[in-house]
Amino acid sequence: MHHFEYRDGTLFAEDVSITNLAREYGTPLYVYSAATFTRHFKAFDSAFDGLDHLTCYSVKANSNLSVLKLLAGLGAGMDIVSGGELFRALKAGVSPDKIVYSGVGKRAAEIREALDAGILWFNVESGAELLEIIEVARSVGKVARVSFRINPDVDPQTHPYISTGMKKNKFGLDIEHSLKAYAMCADLENIEPIGMDCHIGSQLTSIEPFKEALQKLLDFYGKLKDMGIDIKYLDLGGGLGITYDEEAPPHPTEFGQALKDMLADVPLKVILEPGRVIAGNSGILVTEVVYTKSNPSRNFLIVDAAMNDLVRPSLYGSYHRIAEVEPKGREAMLYDVVGPICESSDFLARERDLPAVEQGELLAVFSAGAYGFSMSSNYNSRPRACELLVDGEKVIVARKRETYDDLLDKEL
Ligand SMILES: *Cc1c(COP(=O)(O)O)cnc(C)c1O
Repeated sequence: MHHFEYRDGTLFAEDVSITNLAREYGTPLYVYSAATFTRHFKAFDSAFDGLDHLTCYSVKANSNLSVLKLLAGLGAGMDIVSGGELFRALKAGVSPDKIVYSGVGKRAAEIREALDAGILWFNVESGAELLEIIEVARSVGKVARVSFRINPDVDPQTHPYISTGMKKNKFGLDIEHSLKAYAMCADLENIEPIGMDCHIGSQLTSIEPFKEALQKLLDFYGKLKDMGIDIKYLDLGGGLGITYDEEAPPHPTEFGQALKDMLADVPLKVILEPGRVIAGNSGILVTEVVYTKSNPSRNFLIVDAAMNDLVRPSLYGSYHRIAEVEPKGREAMLYDVVGPICESSDFLARERDLPAVEQGELLAVFSAGAYGFSMSSNYNSRPRACELLVDGEKVIVARKRETYDDLLDKEL
């Protein structure tokens, strides 16, 4: 459920007309709904009521400071993957003991920043990273809490670029290496293993791969106990999918129930790292048709949003629903919706039935709240879009549109 609905023939974000927003703030324009973020976070978090748990929102899905503040205010912890995301999370007011740090290539400086802040733990993804964390912790006289990210070799049945828990993926440690890593920590100072972790992929539309991964982690937990190693946390990562088109992903309550069933007698605190399921349908990208054009094989809608604004279609061939901001009931035609960038992969949709819209009209690209702006770039020297956070009738400029001067800001 989201709060982007038509009223009297115009698309609204909560109580604000998208047409008016586009007029005032220009396009391309990201519009987020605070009520939708809140609703998604609460629906997800409450699905695990009854389990001792902490929901750590995955910052990379949508890392706008206003969004992070909103979620922090609802009690969210954060899952970060860089020093920059740590900086954002702390600025947003997230308590450091609710921050977990994932990622295969944490550098010494980033590790030090996280130790200084006092984060809950590092999700460690290799033996070399473990040694680096121990070294940094020793140099600053601290004990680093860690979880090992276990690669359970489970097929999440999603796009290969967003599958992360199979043997061929770069993420985590296989089960054998993980056991050795925990055993090694027992004899070392400055390091305290307190949890186990996995994150098997993104946009999962079935519970089964999660259950399969969880069972492997529980078997692993048994082995740790046999070795006399006691941990307190289980982090199942993120990955729950959303509806972009006709997918029917499980509701968080179904996911929650599966976990409650499997963890009934397991004395571990559960961490979850949802990103897309919170942010994806909480935002849209608004774009204006710059030109229409046809050749003997195709009709094109050339719009002012491009792959630098929303790269998912170009990168993964992802589907985003596109609709008129002011529908006029016209016949549909087959279109490629493309941006102004000089790449053939610069498209938002291909071979899509859309009403025969005209130059100057507005389109809404739905489900753009996750991995939209956060993956955007300045390619083709395009200033990045403005981000608005709508809350009822209130409009917050969550990020101003970049200017040409911004493009040159760091250049000689
Ligand atoms: C990206 C990521 C997430 C969030 O994934 P979603 O599919 O957006 O829920 C969670 N944990 C880790 C380690 C990630 O890299």
